[in-house]
Amino acid sequence: MIQGTTQLLGVIGDPVKHSLSPVMHNAAIAALGLDYVYLPLPIAAADLPAAVRGFEAIGLRGFNITIPHKQAILPLLNEVSEVAQAVGAVNTVWRTARGWSGTNTDVMGFLAPLRDRDWQQAPAAVLGNGGAARAVVAACHQLGCPEIWVFGRRSERLQRFIESWQISPLRPRIAGYSWSQLDDYLPQAGLIINATPVGMAPQAAASPLSSEQIAQLPKAAIAYDLIYTPRPTQFLKQAAQAGLETIDGLEMLVQQGAAALEIWVNQPVPIDVMRAALLTQLEG
Ligand code: NAP
Repeated sequence: MIQGTTQLLGVIGDPVKHSLSPVMHNAAIAALGLDYVYLPLPIAAADLPAAVRGFEAIGLRGFNITIPHKQAILPLLNEVSEVAQAVGAVNTVWRTARGWSGTNTDVMGFLAPLRDRDWQQAPAAVLGNGGAARAVVAACHQLGCPEIWVFGRRSERLQRFIESWQISPLRPRIAGYSWSQLDDYLPQAGLIINATPVGMAPQAAASPLSSEQIAQLPKAAIAYDLIYTPRPTQFLKQAAQAGLETIDGLEMLVQQGAAALEIWVNQPVPIDVMRAALLTQLEG
């Protein structure tokens, strides 16, 4: 029930109407019986500074950030975590006595299904060099992957991506390669991650790798697709057919949300409730 004491959370972006975050967070808030509500907050890029001042004025407790504000929010914050600085993007902000604090829970979200294994002998191959690939690189570094190979289709963009890590506080062991060099590296990869939109509508029948390329991966390799709809993607279908363990993007979405909510409400949150709410929404 929304009442006079209800505290405000939300997601800012442009657009936000397709965001799954309100469904996931409000389900958890209801299950915990907390006096909070999580709102979609559409904010145009030019209005971001005014919006953040307004959030302070109305006492908003915290918010998630989606496209196009994930980088633009950084100079408006009083504190940014080391991991968010390294990624160069913030997806979760909360209010402290010192002002707005921000971090990037996509990194924790990506890591969650990969914890409790030894990655010291498992190089990671990342397909794509966009925003999500940045969180993936930080996460693979945290896991302890000995090397991170990033495959990009545009050499200048890829070069800039790799250079940005050389001046980051994390200093991952990272190298960039063209798409045509994949066949040289796939036989040694321990983790292969699709961080491109290939496999998502309108390219739902496509895969970033051919079946022949997937067959080159070691049998112990894990195929991870950041895409959460369709489930499974063509890439993960091919990987499962080749006998590989597969992980799709739903768990990352759930876990980044759970990590954000835990920061705001300062208590453990019901991840099962959040996952179920997302599945109902996605399958409904
Ligand atoms: P982005 O910033 O636009 O980056 C996309 C990357 O994919 C770019 O490097 C792009 O290359 C590359 N790419 C696009 N089409 C390609 C193609 N046909 N062949 C080869 N490379 C191609 O997007 P993003 O935000 O990183 O998102 C990437 C994917 O991750 C999306 O499917 C998104 O839904 C998913 N995602 C999932 C979660 C989750 O919680 N599960 C979170 C974030 C993102 P160029 O640089 O050359 O354009």
